Amino acid sequence: MYPAPFHYHRVDSLQDAISRLAELGDSARALAGGQTLLVWMKLRFDEPRHLVDLSRIPGLSDIRLEGDEVCIGALATHAEITKSAVAAAIPSVYDCGSGIADGQIRSRGTIGGALGSADPSCDWPVLLHTLDAVLTCTGPEGTRSIPVSELVEDIYTTILQPAELITGIRFRMPPENSAGAYCGFKRCAPAYPTASVAVQLTLEDDICSEVRIALGSAGLTTVTSKEAENILRGSRLTEANIDKAAQAIVAAAEPVPDQRGAEDFKRAVLHSLVKRAVDIAMRRCQGETIGVHREYV
Ligand SMILES: Cc1cc2nc3c(=O)[nH]c(=O)nc-3n(C[C@H](O)[C@H](O)[C@H](O)COP(=O)(O)OP(=O)(O)OC[C@H]3O[C@@H](n4cnc5c(N)ncnc54)[C@H](O)[C@@H]3O)c2cc1C
Repeated sequence: MYPAPFHYHRVDSLQDAISRLAELGDSARALAGGQTLLVWMKLRFDEPRHLVDLSRIPGLSDIRLEGDEVCIGALATHAEITKSAVAAAIPSVYDCGSGIADGQIRSRGTIGGALGSADPSCDWPVLLHTLDAVLTCTGPEGTRSIPVSELVEDIYTTILQPAELITGIRFRMPPENSAGAYCGFKRCAPAYPTASVAVQLTLEDDICSEVRIALGSAGLTTVTSKEAENILRGSRLTEANIDKAAQAIVAAAEPVPDQRGAEDFKRAVLHSLVKRAVDIAMRRCQGETIGVHREYV
C-alpha cells in the first residue's frame, strides 16, 4: 500500500529540526532511517502529514569513547555501530547489531530510531537495558538525560515530549571482569526476532557480583526482573541457579501469540535463550572468545 500524502522537510541542524517539529505539531514525525516509520505509513498505522528528515544533521552519528564512557550518536546506523571499535571491544554490541534484519536495513536504520519507535521487538533497547544506558534528549525545553529503562511508557509510546529528540546514547565501558551476550531466535535474517535476550555479568572469583538481564519480543515493552537478577547476584553461576533465574524472568514475560509462535512456545524459547546468554557471558568473563549466537528456524 502507498502511504497517505505527506510533505517532506529537510533540516540541517538539531535546532531547526526541533523548531520545525514544534511548529508542525502532532501532524509531524521525525524521520531517521525510515525503516520503521515508512513501513508504518505504508500500512497506514500512522499517517503523518509532515516528515522532518534528521539524516543530514551533522555530528549526530559519531561513535566514540570519552574516558570510560561509550557515546553513540542517535543517527549512528546499525551497520556503523556493528563495524565500530566499540563493537570490537564489547562483544554483546556486535552480537546485537549484526543480528538486526539484513544488510540494507542495517545500513539505513539508526539506534535513535530503534529507541524512538518503542517497538518491543527492536534489539538495541533490550541490550541497552543491560548496559544501564542513559539517553541524551533535546527538545524545546532544553536537554535532559533519560535512563533507557524510563524511556518507554507503553508499546510504541515513549515519554518524549512533543518535538523532543534523542540525540545520543551513553553507557560505561564494562570493566575487564564483566561481559555480556545477546542471543536471538528468528525465522530468517530480515525478520524481527521471535524472542531475544541480553545479559551482562560481572564476576569476582567465580561469584556473580553484578548482573543485568532483559528480554525482547517478550511483552509490550522490554522485560526485566529484579527477582531473576537477585537469584544470580552474590552466587556461583551453577546450572540450578541459572535455571531458577531463567524461570523467574520468563514468569515476568507476557509474550504475545502471533505468526512467530504461540505464547508457550515463546516462553520455552526465552527460557533456553536466557540460559544460553548467561553461559556465553560467563565464559566471555573468563576470557573465552565466543562468536555471535543466533538461530534461524
Ligand atoms: C523487514 C524489517 C526487519 C527488521 N528487523 C529488525 C530486527 O531484527 N531488529 C531490530 O531491532 N529492528 C528491525 N527492524 C527495524 C529497523 O531496525 C529500524 O531501523 C529501526 O527500528 C528504526 O530506526 P530508523 O532509523 O529506521 O527509524 P525511523 O523509521 O525513521 O523512525 C522510527 C520512529 O522513531 C522516531 N525517531 C526516529 N529518530 C528519532 C530520534 N532521534 N529521537 C526520537 N524519535 C526518533 C520516528 O519519529 C519514528 O516514530 C526491521 C525493519 C524492517 C523493515
